[in-house]
Amino acid sequence: MRPITGGVCATCGERLFSAYAVAGAPGESRCGLCRRVEPAFARAAAYGSYESGLRELIHLLKYGGVRPAATVLGRMLAEAIAALEPNFPADSVALVPVPLHRTKLRQRGFNQAELIARAAMKISPARDRLRLCAGALERKRETASQIGLTIPQRRENLRGAFGVAQPELVKGREVLVVDDVYTTGATVSECARVLRRAGAIKVWVATVARTLKISAQQAKIGPHADDGQMGEGIGADDVPMAKAVGI
Ligand SMILES: [Zn+2]
Repeated sequence: MRPITGGVCATCGERLFSAYAVAGAPGESRCGLCRRVEPAFARAAAYGSYESGLRELIHLLKYGGVRPAATVLGRMLAEAIAALEPNFPADSVALVPVPLHRTKLRQRGFNQAELIARAAMKISPARDRLRLCAGALERKRETASQIGLTIPQRRENLRGAFGVAQPELVKGREVLVVDDVYTTGATVSECARVLRRAGAIKVWVATVARTLKISAQQAKIGPHADDGQMGEGIGADDVPMAKAVGI
């Protein structure tokens, strides 16, 4: 559960291989995807790679309902936010957690992105400039699982899934979208797209974890090949990492 190191895409944070890393100024190299299609967000930052301990900790919160995990994940999110902070405007940034559909929210009892965002806000050095706008976005429809879909299919799957419920909170402002995991970026890209259409000047993205090319390849042969397979009801005892961080 270490922070991501090495060359990453200056826009989306994907791991870069040497061929890309040498192109462009240091810290300004972009991955092939971002060079082909300009993302709707300005930059996405993540704390760590979505694997092993970090993945278990996120599952513990989402599927095990172990809310104290949000405090630990919030500390990590605060670090991702710190990487973006130098770019933030002097006045304020609207902090918008990726929303769940109301049916999912009722099932789970909480929105993990919002819990993590609230925990991060308590300790983030940027907290004075972050204004939580949890109701700014809404998830208008439930979406099919994204597992196994290509990036264009994911984009299509999410089209029309989000709407801006309170445009006055984002119009003419910079927005920071936060979520637990960045997989292909399809979800946060769709959020950024509707926020920009509602008048947000710029959209930043911070997540606790991010899938990275190398770890994704490993995941195919690993024990947790598919996200979301871990059922409800897992507890802290099932996750060694929970003990390591004192949950
Ligand atoms: Zn990229």
